[in-house]
Amino acid sequence: MNKEAINKLMRPKSVAVVGASSQPGKIGYTVLENLIKGGYKGKIYPINPAATEILSLPVFASVSALPEPADLAIITVPVKFANQVAEECGQKGIKALSVITSGYSEVGRNDLEKELIDIAHKYGMCVLGPNIVGSLSNSDDLNASFGPFLPFKGSATLITQSGALLIAMDAITYTRKVGFDKMISIGNMADVDFADLIEWLEDDKYTSCTCLYVEGIKDGRKFIDACRNAKKPIIALKAGTSVHGAAAAASHTGSLAGSAKVYTAAFQQAGVVQASDLNNLFDRTLALSLMPPLKGTNLLLVTNGGGVGVLATDAAEKFGIPLKFAPPDVQEELKKHMPAFGSAKNPVDMTGMAGNDWYYETVKFAYAHPWTDGLVVLYCETAMTSPVEIAQAVKKAMDDSGMKGKPIMVSMVGGTRCDKAMQWLVENGIPAYGPPDQAMNAMAALSELNRIQSMLDKTEVVSDPACAAKAAEIIAVARGDGRTALTEVEAKQIFSAYGLPIAQTWLAKCEDEAVEMAKSIGFPVVMKIISPDIVHKSDAKGVKVNIKDEAGVRESYKTILANAKVYKADANIHGIAVQEMAPSGTEVIVGSVNDATFGPTVMFGLGGIFVEVLKDVTFRVAPVNKSQIEQMLTEIRGAPMLKGVRGELPRDRAALVDVLYRYAIMISDLAGEVSETDANPILVYAEGKGVKVVDARIILKKKA
Ligand code: ADP
Ligand code: MG
Repeated sequence: MNKEAINKLMRPKSVAVVGASSQPGKIGYTVLENLIKGGYKGKIYPINPAATEILSLPVFASVSALPEPADLAIITVPVKFANQVAEECGQKGIKALSVITSGYSEVGRNDLEKELIDIAHKYGMCVLGPNIVGSLSNSDDLNASFGPFLPFKGSATLITQSGALLIAMDAITYTRKVGFDKMISIGNMADVDFADLIEWLEDDKYTSCTCLYVEGIKDGRKFIDACRNAKKPIIALKAGTSVHGAAAAASHTGSLAGSAKVYTAAFQQAGVVQASDLNNLFDRTLALSLMPPLKGTNLLLVTNGGGVGVLATDAAEKFGIPLKFAPPDVQEELKKHMPAFGSAKNPVDMTGMAGNDWYYETVKFAYAHPWTDGLVVLYCETAMTSPVEIAQAVKKAMDDSGMKGKPIMVSMVGGTRCDKAMQWLVENGIPAYGPPDQAMNAMAALSELNRIQSMLDKTEVVSDPACAAKAAEIIAVARGDGRTALTEVEAKQIFSAYGLPIAQTWLAKCEDEAVEMAKSIGFPVVMKIISPDIVHKSDAKGVKVNIKDEAGVRESYKTILANAKVYKADANIHGIAVQEMAPSGTEVIVGSVNDATFGPTVMFGLGGIFVEVLKDVTFRVAPVNKSQIEQMLTEIRGAPMLKGVRGELPRDRAALVDVLYRYAIMISDLAGEVSETDANPILVYAEGKGVKVVDARIILKKKA
């Protein structure tokens, strides 16, 4: 990150607008007008060779005519002039460019974009964009964009790949009362990207939470690094999760949109909370920007209406923060501020008789009590109470409690009076929501933040030279034959070098050898065709299991060879594998792909229909730590299978976790050579009995 330059980009003392126009409606006019209207305190230099004064400001004919190198140059000229302007800016000594101009990689002109960045880097300049709306900052009174106004004040900062969405979200900040300090459009991210800004915002005292709208990230590893090193909460809305949406996103910003599941994995590992849609992004951003994480599971609800209490309770469970009853002493105290027919359990129902005082006393006590990890205050509009007064009572109770460091939020169900009260709450630092499920979802974000921060994955790639050397040796043989497919036998040798527990496997070149091997392994055995030309052995009728004796070995040897010939007459056959017959267990699949964005990625799922039909799989970017792997095992829908079903004992999770851990090390170590791998199936046994890898596949990258 070019920090000096980004300082100038984000916090300029002077701004040049190249392409400033005197014609209202033109972007070059709007940007200039916005700088003025936004109350920018620094110097503004409009640049236009054909004008002398615009909006009462003196105009300069060119960048070189400026009295000083402006901190920031906003480029709004058509694309055919923009790179030339960048060159002039560089010569002038300007260090930061905000390139609003479009017509670059988003329309396939990658050449022009590269040229722009080459020019910028030649002069040590950073580039925001191109193809952006610009950037806005309340704390700098800086509207350096063609978005109409600075956002509703607050401490979140938005970084978005969609400029149009920035303008729309800017307007929504006022209707939703979600406060932002900055909104930054990064467009094509040709230079300054999410990671650079996330890193820069760490030192920005006006930002408490970073909010991302993501279509596609270019350098996945850089993104993960920046996020996992950030101390401020980050929330992301990932767009383009559908097949068609991903294609639309790719053509929108010209970046590669990797698999949605891989993004989710990377966000988890990097400590990024996710939002499910635009509304949810606002809800969660509000909570994350105003409140600390929810550090425990004791969530208390206080309400004046049973109905909203029940709805909130349902939502809490749905979003993974189920309620518990408060302990008896807490209930005793809570009973003091409710009628006899109220309920002090959880939700705490003060009934419709609750007024300002009961809200005040109950919130003050409940918020301060050590049992409470988080508090949600619900309110149903009533004729006898004033929502704003209730809001004020909640705020006063919170302040008077002397408690800090735990989250509190409010849900108010009602009309315009509630809207006003909620606005008052937000302006006074308390997140407020209409429907209770929205509040509970936001509280769940604070709980997710706590969870993902506690299992933040800082695993580094550690290559074991001995394993890598063994793998290199085997890969070299295949490369020597001009192959990209390793055989099961070769793949298993590599797996085994990385400490994966494989079923004992030997390669027989003739029938007699097969018999010898079977005898020394011990019956029953499994026999399989081994040929780089037959990747799916069962398809070629090339697998025989449960072979019980010598006669069976001889018979199977002949049949498998004959079947292989039928399947593919010219297949190059290395021999027949003879293996120990692993006892049956729960079948799981572990595999890997090289994701275009995030690199080597490990996949886990259950075998059979779970993976084939239901696509019930989950991913992590490799390498990955064990707490993340534990999480993977719970993420798939088939997770209960690992607990043991129909009287089975629980499966050996620890052994499975270890396999995934080693597997991820292996694939990150071999990422340069290997394109995809799988271990399908791995048999998982009862606790303490381990796992067995019975099949192995490695496909190498094609070499140019
Ligand atoms: P394919 O190339 O068709 O995937 P596999 O090696 O996976 O071939 O074998 C097919 C099936 O045979 C496996 O899914 C598994 O159920 C069974 N199998 C293979 N090897 C063994 C073994 N060593 N022990 C027990 N069962 C095995
Ligand atoms: Mg298989």
